[in-house]
Amino acid sequence: MSVLDVRSDTVTQPTLAMRQAMFDAVVGDDVYGDDPTVRELETLAAGILGKEAALFVPSGNFGNQLALYTHCQRGDEVILGDDCHIVWHETGGAAVIAGVQLRTIASADGVLRADEVKKRIRVGDDIHWPRTGLICVENAHSNGRVIPLDAMQAVWDVAQQHGVPVHLDGARVFNAAVHLGCEVRDITRYSDTVMCCLSKGLAAPVGSILAGPAAFIARARKNRKLLGGGLRQAGVLAAPGILALTEMVERLPQDHANARYLAEQLAALPGIDVNLDDVHINMVWFRLPDSLDSGQLMAALAAAGIKANGPEHGLMRLVTHWQIGRTDIDRIVAVFASVLAA
Ligand SMILES: *Cc1c(COP(=O)(O)O)cnc(C)c1O
Repeated sequence: MSVLDVRSDTVTQPTLAMRQAMFDAVVGDDVYGDDPTVRELETLAAGILGKEAALFVPSGNFGNQLALYTHCQRGDEVILGDDCHIVWHETGGAAVIAGVQLRTIASADGVLRADEVKKRIRVGDDIHWPRTGLICVENAHSNGRVIPLDAMQAVWDVAQQHGVPVHLDGARVFNAAVHLGCEVRDITRYSDTVMCCLSKGLAAPVGSILAGPAAFIARARKNRKLLGGGLRQAGVLAAPGILALTEMVERLPQDHANARYLAEQLAALPGIDVNLDDVHINMVWFRLPDSLDSGQLMAALAAAGIKANGPEHGLMRLVTHWQIGRTDIDRIVAVFASVLAA
């Protein structure tokens, strides 16, 4: 029985082509700037993301924290949504590494209202105040929803008016572009810098990209070294990253269609509550009936060879990716159907 892993798109295994590319990669010492494969990935990524330069970093978390550290001075204030990844899932790194103060805004399903951002920007030089160092936005949001371009532009316009830079946590920005039916650069134009993950739905084994103006990336390169992220023969990791951008982006619509299929199948089961309007990318969130014994559900999934994260407060998430097809989804839905029927 094959194991199906729908906990996240971070679980994706590198494709056969990626493993071959790793084997074949021409490498050098990237701290000396000598690795041609890393340079190729960085040039390619900068072009696709519509930025002057790009930097290969070990993870998305690293890329975001490096962005905060490079944009800000200690004691600066960063304005961002209260449910964003930097606040929730980065181990409080902003306080440790950049030494910044996070000033949160109540997010409406991941959308930041521009007037709420504007209210929090520090104007003037009152000696009590921290400096506003950065605004962070996230698209696609880790709640699975995509932020519309007009909402991104509204925050960007406010930031421009006040000369505050914007960083986009674009871990799944390629999924966002698929949902919006636009180019990735149509999204990233509303930010100075962007981080995107190669190792989620794009299936590279390791790595993310931080992109932005050339002068910013030069400073980030030095800060990456300071943080211990200067990698040597990293071409073996950059090679699958190149395939992530050249071959895996174009198949993301399949993951989105499969997520929609999964959502529709689950919605058809008695007691499962799925908001189909919230299925934008490769994630399906749904509510289980209160009467359902989640221990029993998780045991049944495990027995059927399905790895899933358990529900939190009755809310559960399943994620599709290149290793999950239609028949796999039928197998998953059958387990839910049998547990609900029991
Ligand atoms: C996954 C994710 C990250 C972090 O990426 P890692 O490579 O897991 O460190 C950052 N932001 C968002 C929105 C994410 O979904």
